[in-house]
Amino acid sequence: MASLPDNPDALYGDVIMDHYRSPRHRAPLRSADVEAEEFNPFCGDRATLQLRLGRPRHDAPAIEDVSALAEGCSIIQASASLLADNLHGRTLEQAADLSQLFRDLMQGKPLPPVALSELGDLEALEVVRQYPVRIKCALLPWVALEEGLRRLSRRSPAGG
Ligand code: ZN
Repeated sequence: MASLPDNPDALYGDVIMDHYRSPRHRAPLRSADVEAEEFNPFCGDRATLQLRLGRPRHDAPAIEDVSALAEGCSIIQASASLLADNLHGRTLEQAADLSQLFRDLMQGKPLPPVALSELGDLEALEVVRQYPVRIKCALLPWVALEEGLRRLSRRSPAGG
């Protein structure tokens, strides 16, 4: 089975192409506790993220529902889909930690095995580092996540 050098499957790998072709969690939520949209005017990519929180579990509510809608290149679509898949069941703090880990991965920081196992299939996006202009595309849904979390924490200050 030969693949041409310019075949995107060969460039990006199975996990990315699978999420690009069948993106998960694209349906908008009727009600959301966290919402944010990010736009990259340079390539026209757009990411819209919604989270709905469930009842508190061990003091912190966990993410019960996720909608991640991305428009643009294959990388932003795959990244948004993988993000949505990986946020289910996490607390907001765990979501923020995952976002930081993902940034570290995309910035090429050396990560210990425990961090890599935390990232799971998100590690597939590391290949994007070979195409630096695409790193922004991979990060855009995560920027939306971080912005959404910031807005939520402004709305409900800790200890209040
Ligand atoms: Zn893009």
